[in-house]
Amino acid sequence: MRKAKMVKEILQVLSLSLFLFGFAKHPLIIGADSVSEQTIRQSINKLSGWDRQCIWEIRIITSEDEWATELSGYRPKSALGMCESDGGRILLRATPGVVVTEHNVLHEIGHAVWFLRLTDSERESVKKLFDQAKKGLVSFPSRYSEKNVEEFFAESFAIAKGV
Ligand SMILES: [Zn+2]
Repeated sequence: MRKAKMVKEILQVLSLSLFLFGFAKHPLIIGADSVSEQTIRQSINKLSGWDRQCIWEIRIITSEDEWATELSGYRPKSALGMCESDGGRILLRATPGVVVTEHNVLHEIGHAVWFLRLTDSERESVKKLFDQAKKGLVSFPSRYSEKNVEEFFAESFAIAKGV
């Protein structure tokens, strides 16, 4: 009887730590001013715990030179953000005249979710939806989402969060 009670208590403590570890985890925010930091935090607050676990670092880039270097030539310089293909690190552009928006933050997080959280069969389902949109059977969430299936998912993800 006593043992059973102890086991139960240990399990409760364990699930609480797992809860705190998994769901309260917050990505590191680097280089943000107060405005972009607030935008990022508001965006993160819209995420489920599982989606939140897909990002561990969000870095703000404020210089055009650094942005060009980070894009390493293979993305358009006009891009507002990028998510590394292993998913967890997001870079956002806040160069002079460019404001970080919740849509941009959640769009990049959408890429991280695509890379890290979706299963192969979930990605297949999104591809089917994208093909249906190309045939005009369902509508694209935005013009940019017509580009490819990954942008289709990232745009849908951001718009589904209400931004
Ligand atoms: Zn994108």
